[in-house]
Amino acid sequence: MTAPTPLIAGNWKMNGLAAALTEARAVAAGAGSTSARVAICPPATLVARMAEALAGGRVEVGGQDCRAELSGAFTGDISAEMLIDAGAGLVILGHSERRAGYGESDELVAAKTAIALANGITPIVCVGETLAEREAGRTEEVVKRQLAAVIHVNGHCISEIVVAYEPVWAIGTGKTATPAQAQAVHAVLRAQLHHAASEHAAGIRILYGGSMNAANAAELLAEADIDGGLIGGASLKAPDFLQIIAAAR
Ligand code: PEP
Repeated sequence: MTAPTPLIAGNWKMNGLAAALTEARAVAAGAGSTSARVAICPPATLVARMAEALAGGRVEVGGQDCRAELSGAFTGDISAEMLIDAGAGLVILGHSERRAGYGESDELVAAKTAIALANGITPIVCVGETLAEREAGRTEEVVKRQLAAVIHVNGHCISEIVVAYEPVWAIGTGKTATPAQAQAVHAVLRAQLHHAASEHAAGIRILYGGSMNAANAAELLAEADIDGGLIGGASLKAPDFLQIIAAAR
């Protein structure tokens, strides 16, 4: 199986009012000639409006989280079905800010992944170690445990997932994993995918995330098992994000 087309996905986190749709439109206008798959995951309040603004173009829209149920008495939450209804085709799940800030467990992330897959929205499942875990030599153990929870989601084909390796110590800190550090972990994840589903492993995108920017994107994306990026801060301004998109081949 040939390597997948790179995916460059922007995670706007809790940033962006309606005026920020201008940035999304500028990304769409500037990304016309890329061969990469491109997505922006704005806050939930902007998903529908961004999907309308970008309709018919090549930039997709994603959510930043969904509930593991489809409806019910869950004040403040949104479901995979609602994201699809609003025009999203992808959803970030298990971001470290949710694992740490909301106590999201591997099991919960797996349940969310299952409901996303069952409803036809592509989950971008985040895994990654903290600085303390890295310094304790536990990186491999942690990311393998996080990925294993999702691989063993009952009855759903993991060929439809995207994995994002995001070392927690590199998110929003300006500290990026070196290409060699990132590739080493991506290779571990690829081997795990291969072991679980050999026929799909080469085609599953494994993105790198953690202070990826215009200056470091090309060398990270050149690594054999890095199939794109999940980009936070540098996705908020169209010129920066477009430079990262341009680095994806
Ligand atoms: C993220 O939060 O997914 C991320 C990668 O953030 P940043 O690029 O800002 O480190």
